[in-house]
Amino acid sequence: AVVRAQAHRFQDGDSVGVVVVLEDVSEIRRLERIRRDFVANVSHELKTPLTSIRGYVETLLDGAIDDDDYNVRFLEKIESNVLRLNHLVTDLLSLARIEAEAGFLNLRPVDLHAVVEEAIRRHEQTAKLRGQTLRADSCSGSVRVFADQEALTQVIDNLIDNGLKYTPDDREIVVRVQRNGKLAILEVEDSGVGIPVEDQARIFERFYRVDKARSRAVGGTGLGLSIVKHLAQAMDGSVELKSQPGKGSIFRVKLKLVE
Ligand code: ADP
Repeated sequence: AVVRAQAHRFQDGDSVGVVVVLEDVSEIRRLERIRRDFVANVSHELKTPLTSIRGYVETLLDGAIDDDDYNVRFLEKIESNVLRLNHLVTDLLSLARIEAEAGFLNLRPVDLHAVVEEAIRRHEQTAKLRGQTLRADSCSGSVRVFADQEALTQVIDNLIDNGLKYTPDDREIVVRVQRNGKLAILEVEDSGVGIPVEDQARIFERFYRVDKARSRAVGGTGLGLSIVKHLAQAMDGSVELKSQPGKGSIFRVKLKLVE
């Protein structure tokens, strides 16, 4: 540990004393490093699409605009970079909100089956287009959790979204709901690329990605799982990962059941 020491000297009458204050600053240093890395990452992630947009706009202004083929192709590139920036800013605002407002969630009993079914319906079309099967495999009977409906929806959406992104076409993604004692267990299991063992501990960190190029290519921001973790914790729950590289991943969210 790094230690900061402060010495105070005092004199009263005949005696001379020294007080040494020892303070472990390794945690402070770690938090400073995380903050610095975060700012650097945000700047980089914002600059990359902006630089592309600028390049395409300048080329169009320089005359490429007279060529119809370039026109459409460049405008499409600009559009995809704008969408990327939009996605990034939305995720950053989500994170900032979660971190700034401790009590921003509206916790109340929520029907987990219903939220899962709705999320599956929202992603069905994307899965179908890729030939993937997205299905629920849930226990019978009601599963009511103590949660914020919007936050829970975001957690499930992000996990399903990742399942679809990191799983090859024509494979399956299963969303499972179960009860276990006082807990509700929500699992999103895919049969995709999996996550290498050495990356598994860091996967919930902001901007941590196993493969940056792949993440960008599939429209990722590197913030999805960190939002999932923050939201699960804010609902007094947790999230964990089990993954076998090359075989697939299971993300498991535990939430408190409503008695
Ligand atoms: P991203 O926007 O890049 O998907 P996330 O925070 O959601 O960011 O995920 C972080 C990284 O974790 C991803 O870039 C990817 O490398 C890995 N990852 C997340 N979900 C999965 C999954 N279901 N299968 C394989 N890798 C995954």
